[in-house]
Amino acid sequence: ATHVVWFRNDLRITDNRALHAACQDPQAKVIAVYIATPEQWKQHDMAPRQAAFIHQNLQCLVHALAGKNIPLFYHQCTDFTASAKWLVDFCQKNEVTDLFYNRQYELNERRRDDAVTELLAEVCGIHSFDDALLLPPGSVVTGSGEMYKVFTPFRNAFLQRLTHSDVRSLPAPKTRDQACEMSEIKPFDYSQQGLDSVLFPAGEEAALQRLRVFCREHVQDYAQQRDIPAVDGTSVLSPYLAVGVLSPRQCLNRLLAECPDTLEDGESGAFVWLNELVWREFYRHLLVAHPKLCRHKPFIAWTDHVHWSGDIEHLTAWQQGKTGYPIVDAAMRQLNHTGWMHNRLRMIVASFLVKDLLINWRAGERYFMSQLIDGDLAANNGGWQWAASSGTDAAPYFRIFNPTTQGERFDKKGDFIRRWLPELADVPDSDIHHPHQWAMKQCRVLDYPQPLVDHALARKQTLQAFEDAKRRA
Ligand code: FAD
Repeated sequence: ATHVVWFRNDLRITDNRALHAACQDPQAKVIAVYIATPEQWKQHDMAPRQAAFIHQNLQCLVHALAGKNIPLFYHQCTDFTASAKWLVDFCQKNEVTDLFYNRQYELNERRRDDAVTELLAEVCGIHSFDDALLLPPGSVVTGSGEMYKVFTPFRNAFLQRLTHSDVRSLPAPKTRDQACEMSEIKPFDYSQQGLDSVLFPAGEEAALQRLRVFCREHVQDYAQQRDIPAVDGTSVLSPYLAVGVLSPRQCLNRLLAECPDTLEDGESGAFVWLNELVWREFYRHLLVAHPKLCRHKPFIAWTDHVHWSGDIEHLTAWQQGKTGYPIVDAAMRQLNHTGWMHNRLRMIVASFLVKDLLINWRAGERYFMSQLIDGDLAANNGGWQWAASSGTDAAPYFRIFNPTTQGERFDKKGDFIRRWLPELADVPDSDIHHPHQWAMKQCRVLDYPQPLVDHALARKQTLQAFEDAKRRA
């Protein structure tokens, strides 16, 4: 028998359900395949930094697989359609008996997998697995069989089900008998952007090490620290989860190993962290229940009637971190510089774009995707629709963050702001959130933009725009 494992968003050998299943038969010849699809990635606005991170992790994967005597065949084509054709051809040429892969849940990915399944139906056995989630989509539903629209009841039902589910992590496969050659992973034909490999070292071992340290040393303080961007209070595991170098089961099992009482204490840091992992699941389950989300449709239809501003200068200022609101600008520069942004800041900058600048959330969603090393359709769309009040269980449209008070609350002394805005280095703690007022008193001119909009006025206009949209719908 010849087994092919088709790697996509699961770039690891431990706890990989498809790989594990493919290796169950000790006699079978096991081959791994990875197909890069740069044209498709462009269409999905994948950040060049994420492509670079995938590339580095792919190199680690080739080595890890070679250590198990499993060769990886690398191929680059244009898009999903081409990749499906190439794979079918590959399976036919190599007389493959069984194809194994872990499911992806986005619409285009599902269409590609359906096409492969159809084309290979007569050629070989096809085995697909739910691997990227703790519980499969559709398995946590209301009494009437529907996907939950509100997070808390979903979370409660989810945790109940979780305790009865098999979420053990699977070991890496045993080394196979025949030695194999290592394949070369050529550079992707994709825009290049520097990636800080000290911040984001590649490979499963690096991810597991970060997970271990976080669960052992930081998770206890997570509830208190997770909203303070100046401290390293969160795990920064999102890039690894996004490309599947780490699985959510590995996260859960490490958490429970360090904090066995996680589920008993809803106030503990461990529970609050688990809650975030459940948000990750919630948005993916939603995507499957409501595929329109993959087409960037709002969950709440009337919000599509909002008359958005088309002010390109405002959008550009936001993208470049030049809005004149220090917390927003520091956050955007963190994103532009590293490809990652703290969750509290994602909420603040998203709210600012939509509710202060009245710019369509899709422009923000797209820009985030183009920059984020952890870009993930479900979480990104969920986050943007939350901020734009167009999503399920989103902030109501009349709740509008004040960017200055958000800054004062979560970066009181401006430690985070000063890290990213050197032009405000001299501004004292007490004035860091309104630096121009200080500069005026000091008769100084700052090399920093004036606020793009007046928040109080912008707030009124946004409320009006949403109310008008609701009336029109
Ligand atoms: P931790 O706080 O350590 O949380 C652990 C893990 O839980 C994260 O790695 C992530 O996988 C998951 N998680 C945490 N918060 C959320 C959340 N609100 N929704 C879904 N999953 C969550 N996350 C992404 O992974 N990719 C994105 O493209 C993305 N875009 C976002 C856009 C907006 C506008 C907002 C408000 C949030 C977005 N998030 C996204 C969610 C969240 O901001 C990041 O997952 C988090 O900041 C990653 O940091 P961490 O790994 O230290 O998280």
